[in-house]
Amino acid sequence: MQCRLNEEECQRTERALHERDEYFRLLIEDASDIVTLLGADGTILYQSRSLTRVLGYDPSERIGENIFATPLAHPEDLDAKRDFLARALATPGGTVSATFRLRHTDGTWRHIEAAGRNLVDDPRISGVVASYRDVTERKRAEVDLALYRLMVESAQDYGIFRLDPDGRVASWNVGAERIKGYAAEEILGRHFSLFYPTEDLEHDKPGQELVAAASMGRFEDEGWRLRKDGSRFWANVVITALRDDHDRLLGFSKITRDLTERKRAEDEVRQLNETLEERVRERTRQLEEVNASLEAFASSASHDLRAPLRGIQGLARVLLEDHAGQLDAAARDYVARIDRAGAGMDRLVQDLLAYGRLGRVEFRPRPVDLGSAVGEALGEVAEALRVARARVDVAPGLPPVLAHPTVLVQVLANLLSNAAKFGKPGGQPRIEVQAERRESRVRLWVIDDGIGIAPEDRERIFEPFERLHGIEAYPGTGVGLAIVRRGVERMGGRSGVEARTGGGSRFWVELPRAG
Ligand code: ADP
Repeated sequence: MQCRLNEEECQRTERALHERDEYFRLLIEDASDIVTLLGADGTILYQSRSLTRVLGYDPSERIGENIFATPLAHPEDLDAKRDFLARALATPGGTVSATFRLRHTDGTWRHIEAAGRNLVDDPRISGVVASYRDVTERKRAEVDLALYRLMVESAQDYGIFRLDPDGRVASWNVGAERIKGYAAEEILGRHFSLFYPTEDLEHDKPGQELVAAASMGRFEDEGWRLRKDGSRFWANVVITALRDDHDRLLGFSKITRDLTERKRAEDEVRQLNETLEERVRERTRQLEEVNASLEAFASSASHDLRAPLRGIQGLARVLLEDHAGQLDAAARDYVARIDRAGAGMDRLVQDLLAYGRLGRVEFRPRPVDLGSAVGEALGEVAEALRVARARVDVAPGLPPVLAHPTVLVQVLANLLSNAAKFGKPGGQPRIEVQAERRESRVRLWVIDDGIGIAPEDRERIFEPFERLHGIEAYPGTGVGLAIVRRGVERMGGRSGVEARTGGGSRFWVELPRAG
């Protein structure tokens, strides 16, 4: 053995050790702690082999070092060591303890718990025998434990508690107190089934949950639970079985969250969804009722307007026909204007009535021959076409469509009369009627070479009373295209307008094909 002390001391030390009984020697050699023999000034006289296992050093190289000067010593722990040695020396026959850090060969600091015993009484050795135990892991575990405890104890929104294997409450945190309303001293030792509503107790839900947690390790559930005051809250519960190294059940940890607000919101959404359709139906029915009564009102008001209008027109005509002689030219002109204004108003009332009717009539589309519908519409607007000197070309073999015959004729008549009316000034309108098949639909075109429509106006002209020109330039009520759109929509179709290259418009209506 390499020894840095003087010969005499080395020999004395070795002799002393050899003289110990065999049992003591084995004890030291096999001890998992580091056994150290220190001189009264802190010189290391001996260190057991476990120094290598615990701190990585060869014990023989440390002999002769001083515990205050060794490179293993932590500079901040010198006082603690000094105190340890002094107390050990001053306590004959007793054991003293201390903790300090020693450096491992890998550079890390290990926490060492030292127990020291005074050997001053022994005439052969003057010093202290100390055992060093590496408690680094334990310290770390203690810190972790303290941290976890802090977390558990301060978790406000989580009820975290422990149950013994029988289900009695063994620990309680502030979250549990906040959620369930029991103070720790009220609940410790009581069975956790107390938190369950009666209907759950009937089939022993608490018991079943513990069995499930014990067999699966972890069990999660959502359900109603009771507070101390008897009120219910919707809980998310996770129960975890706690077992020791030998798989013996120690109890359960239980984490409870109060999800009442979330549950309430979910229930509300579910209920809203369930009743949404019903409410939409009810609202639609109410709207339909309001609509129907408005349209009925508009229709009866329109009817009532026509009688005085006819009176005004009749009297104007009597004046013109029977009393023309008594009127000068200006008066005759006024009366003629009254007659024309009355006629215009009558047309408007009729258009409004037609428009209103479209909203009320029950449509059951049936196959209609498009060619004959166009023919009928041309007949209706023959006078307007004649006045405008319009030429109409209808493509042969127009396909049948699903439609309401009267409404279809009305729609076509409006488009044809517009095509004639909005011709270029001084021109002779050329109108084409064509159709094309588009899968299950037929698109019918009414094409004119008239004044055309600016792109930004092409949608709004389908609204009632939307007109792009003064009544003097082009007479009309502004309801014709509104009738087209509503009529076609009621028959399950669509309508629109595009520009015609070279000037003019291409109005179209699309209806379901018949056959
Ligand atoms: P009205 O013809 O009684 O004015 P409509 O609803 O039929 O009412 O048409 C609305 C407006 O759309 C018309 O005033 C006109 O400005 C424009 N319009 C309709 N058809 C044509 C067309 N073929 N060419 C150009 N403009 C048109």
